[in-house]
Amino acid sequence: MKVFKFGGASVKDAAGVMNLHRILSLFTGNSILVVVSAMGKTTNKLELVIQAWYTGNTPEAVEHIEELRFYHQELIRGLEMDLSQQEALLSSTDVFFNELREMVVKPTDAYYNQIYDQIVAYGELISTHIISGYLNAKQIANRWLDAREFIVTNDTFRDARINWSKTESNIVKLANNEGLIDGINVTQGFIGRVDGTKLTTTLGREGSDFTASIFAYCLGAKDVTIWKDVPGVLNADPKLFPFAEKIDELSYEEAVEMTYYGASVIHPKTIKPLQNKGIKLYVRSFLKPELEGTVIRQIDEWRSFPPCIIVKKNQMLISFASRDFSFVAEESLSLIFGELYKLGIKAHISQNSAISFRICVDEDPFKVQPFIEAVSSHFDVSTEGGLSLWTLRHQSEKLEKGLISGKTVLLEQRSKSAVQYVLR
Ligand code: ASP
Ligand code: MG
Repeated sequence: MKVFKFGGASVKDAAGVMNLHRILSLFTGNSILVVVSAMGKTTNKLELVIQAWYTGNTPEAVEHIEELRFYHQELIRGLEMDLSQQEALLSSTDVFFNELREMVVKPTDAYYNQIYDQIVAYGELISTHIISGYLNAKQIANRWLDAREFIVTNDTFRDARINWSKTESNIVKLANNEGLIDGINVTQGFIGRVDGTKLTTTLGREGSDFTASIFAYCLGAKDVTIWKDVPGVLNADPKLFPFAEKIDELSYEEAVEMTYYGASVIHPKTIKPLQNKGIKLYVRSFLKPELEGTVIRQIDEWRSFPPCIIVKKNQMLISFASRDFSFVAEESLSLIFGELYKLGIKAHISQNSAISFRICVDEDPFKVQPFIEAVSSHFDVSTEGGLSLWTLRHQSEKLEKGLISGKTVLLEQRSKSAVQYVLR
């Protein structure tokens, strides 16, 4: 069994879905589990639905849903397929939009993150429904699977943690009971379900890569391929740095470090399960599937890896100062990190002095605000947003200085192979 993951950009329009079919045709004879994200910018749009609903603006929520319905309908109409099958696909897809609509016309007082996951999951349910339907129309027999029946999580909505033993037993059962077919199986990335409930969870934005890796691990898959709009893993974002180059091979360790620091080509949680079972990860271009891309695998001999630049935008510095000149020490830190953990906020960097402490986090008001409320009775808290976090790996100091010149450095942290800057 191979696992393929297609992200939103690869299926953003009819041409993309037809291209997915073309790529699958290059692998006839293989059994493949295809993991797909929501189409194009659907997840962002669903976030707008949620925000409108949550703030009591039903008409706006409904309007966004109708725009999404239209977008998916147009996409289906663009697919080359038998007209009666197209009509059938249009009406079966409508069911999802009707459900969404029914949900948001009723007011809600549920917890924001929980509502978020119930709504946002529709993006993946809809995309896989359309893709599976299209493949059927193209005579590619395939099985559609609801990932929530296999991926068991806790109830940290928007950043749910995997219950590995239950998830593994579900997926092993699925494979053993002929729940997977020889050929193509299609499922959703990003979504799971709270153990023993009907509540949907999500694994964190861009979490579909992680889903692919979870299935691969539990199935003991041969390999995983992430199909991207770039030729593979690059040493910098080509939109920001024209000199960016593709890296042919990476070790799991190097890949995990890069993604940890925010290289957005692969979701950070993807590597570990694959490394644990020695499953190779390919990153390849869906635009040029004939090219080799990057392979991430076990590399035992010493290698020097190319210099990398990883830029994370929309960052915020949160500073904590003690009120009475007492030290910010273990007890206060455990309070801060406890709250961060509860809310699923990642501190990309932390730095402390005697009476103050600073962290750099993603600027997400729906997480940061409750966090600040939770800790502000203990510290003086101040924030500065609109920042970026740069991580430079394997760079010479001279190159470093050139890269950051003209920017204001608010925080700097150095380790053996990386230096990080929070820049204004
Ligand atoms: N659709 C989700 C997102 O945009 C998950 C993913 O793309 O991996 O975050
Ligand atoms: Mg996406």
